Amino acid sequence: MKITIIGTGYVGLVTGACLSDIGIEVRCVDVDKNKIDNLKKGILPIYEPGLQEIIDRNFSSGRISFYSDIKEAIDSEVFFIAVGTPPGEDGSADLKYVLQVADTIGKNITKYVLVITKSTVPVGTAEKVRETLSKSLINRKKNIDFDVASNPEFLKEGAAISDFKKPDRIVVGVDNEKSKSIIQKLYRPFIINGHPLIFMDIPSAEMTKYAANSMLATKISFMNDIANLCEILGANVNSVRKGIGTDERIGNKFIYPGIGYGGSCFPKDVKALAKSGKNNGYSMRILEAVEEVNTSQKRVMFDKIDRHFDSNLKNKTFAFWGLSFKPNTDDMREAPSLVLAKLLLASGSKINVFDPVAMEEAKKDLNDSVNYCKSLYDTTKNADAIVLITEWSEFRLPDWKAIEELINEKTIFDGRNLYSKENMIERGYNYYGIGI
Ligand code: NAD
Repeated sequence: MKITIIGTGYVGLVTGACLSDIGIEVRCVDVDKNKIDNLKKGILPIYEPGLQEIIDRNFSSGRISFYSDIKEAIDSEVFFIAVGTPPGEDGSADLKYVLQVADTIGKNITKYVLVITKSTVPVGTAEKVRETLSKSLINRKKNIDFDVASNPEFLKEGAAISDFKKPDRIVVGVDNEKSKSIIQKLYRPFIINGHPLIFMDIPSAEMTKYAANSMLATKISFMNDIANLCEILGANVNSVRKGIGTDERIGNKFIYPGIGYGGSCFPKDVKALAKSGKNNGYSMRILEAVEEVNTSQKRVMFDKIDRHFDSNLKNKTFAFWGLSFKPNTDDMREAPSLVLAKLLLASGSKINVFDPVAMEEAKKDLNDSVNYCKSLYDTTKNADAIVLITEWSEFRLPDWKAIEELINEKTIFDGRNLYSKENMIERGYNYYGIGI
């Protein structure tokens, strides 16, 4: 089977790599010529553990190839649309890239194709893809049969390869048996070990992705709210988390408080689903609150820092440990670190930063407003406080003795409750966590 994937970002590239790894001939297409030129040289646009090896292996055996012109990748049976769906000005998902791709497919195909949307798109998008593609074919006066389907992606950045190869489930929306059997054939290698392939109608598949991300974002905002109240009332959210996480109905995942969720998905998907409700006369009140809590949570650490230093932040130096919105990724989209950095810089502070992989990405936003360091120890030289932003595993057991030699004041703001409050106090630190 030959497939073409349009859009070589996190989703397109991981999908392409994993499908080529099971023997499928995969063509990846992107309008960003620079990205494609780099991919042909083996240079990946993103950091994702394990991805480089899979792409190198399959590129050299010819199973995966890269193009900036769809015409070179047009004789496939299956097309995946994996382009971005950023928030439009009003918060709803901007479908212009998805529909551009549908138009391009319609302008170029010569035989039957199945067009599968992998991008996160609102209910009704597959129909828009169908209409757009039909119009392009009518303009060409061509009568070529095609189908559309929805196959939302649930991979997590940082664990994308194993999520794709061993998915909790694969969700697919189809409207006929032919599409279903193509997709069954395509995904068979991934489901033989019992991972379920769940077929449903197309609108339900489109909604499933938004409902999943919104539920996860809700858990995070709920827990952040609980943490803030714990702090006011003198409870410890770490204990509360363990106390509720052992209840099977609640579960222990996604109930860690922190400095707010970020990334390319939760913020935009929560907004888009709320907007989709509004556009259809229904107010998604829970999601509106989820977003509001998240926006204020991104400021929580700044308020603690400001209070600790009696609002005298001018010329104070902060050691930022981590920048990316979560570990194992260089994705800086909507990262809470950016909000905190900007608030501190606006107050006249200086910031030393270290992140194992995200510093190049961070430079696109922070430019030279912060001091990029070679290690977490470098950040602490003459710093007035440490701010733990991202729970990279290499930050778990730092050499506190070495740090004591470097730092000005033993104060730590732990945005992920990574360290033991008791241990840090024993070491002589002023310790500030979230909800403890
Ligand atoms: P991304 O921004 O990393 O990549 C999108 C790519 O599409 C870019 O390389 C861009 O150049 C390309 N592109 C845009 N228009 C194009 C066109 N007309 N033709 C060819 N290429 C084009 O995006 P991403 O993070 O991979 O996300 C893609 C979609 O998948 C989004 O809808 C997102 O919500 C969804 N999603 C993302 C994740 C994630 O963790 N990043 C997870 C699940 C779902």
